[in-house]
Amino acid sequence: MRKSKRILLAITVILLATSIFTFVVWQPSMIRRVPYPAPEPAFHSWKEILSNPQPITIRTYSTGIMQTTLSAIMNLEHEEAQDIEDASIEIPVNVGIIQHQEFGAYLIDAGLDKAYVHNQHGTIRGLMVESYLGKGSQEPNTHVAAILDQESIRLEGVFLTHLHQDHTAGIVDLPKDIPYVAGKNERYVNYRFFMQSDHLAGIDELQEIDFAEAIDLPPLGKGIDVIGDGSLWAISSSGHSAGHVIFLINGIDEQVLFTGDACNDHYQFETGIGPGYYSSDLEGGQEALERIILFKERHPEVKLVYGHDLITY
Ligand SMILES: [Zn+2]
Repeated sequence: MRKSKRILLAITVILLATSIFTFVVWQPSMIRRVPYPAPEPAFHSWKEILSNPQPITIRTYSTGIMQTTLSAIMNLEHEEAQDIEDASIEIPVNVGIIQHQEFGAYLIDAGLDKAYVHNQHGTIRGLMVESYLGKGSQEPNTHVAAILDQESIRLEGVFLTHLHQDHTAGIVDLPKDIPYVAGKNERYVNYRFFMQSDHLAGIDELQEIDFAEAIDLPPLGKGIDVIGDGSLWAISSSGHSAGHVIFLINGIDEQVLFTGDACNDHYQFETGIGPGYYSSDLEGGQEALERIILFKERHPEVKLVYGHDLITY
């Protein structure tokens, strides 16, 4: 074969492989993304925010248990982790139900869906599932839709700290005609034949919070006033994932920082050991954790709810 023909053949093969990947394997990951319409902030510093609490509450529920490894959630290369051996661990998978006296109920994260009662991977299927994912388990009627149903709560919207499967799975049991909101640049992995969950199936569009225009709220970082009355704040905390978001619930009864997987549990908070290999950027994740630790030092009255810990601190 002449050299030019070989080059042409190689280019054709590459284009064909790329098209197959894009349209067959990767296509289910695509969802229309639109900007979250962020209101003007009512306050501009933590001092102002925390001295103006609003009629909002949060309750945390565990939607099941994930079996994973310490190294997946915690960086065992960290200098504070030198004596820690990797081990299999079981962690709860939390969601937060927010009630605003005036604006209704919202969810932070969706946890595990009801399929985990009888299937350790819920609705997730594909060649990579067994080797890459932790195993989940769940008691009947503890998925988030069951909790909402038992309490006759009608959701106004769902905020997601990030789009990893243990935080999106419960969406399959939730209504689809409400806003779903995540941080900008947050990846959703849904690869046909490899790792397909279809957790976002039926949702028209994902609203993305863009922190480029947000106000600076040190030491945590850029934040937006989600509703516009100072009650609920979304703060950029990329590291564990590219578009990871943490939420501050500025309630009259209590003020709570919902950390998602920027801080998995209290052990991580106490030791300062950043997130593990499930994270997209270890250094960014370490910095995000350190900002949370510093924030709690400055504002000890704010309670911490972690992504994977049963206790509020
Ligand atoms: Zn998680």
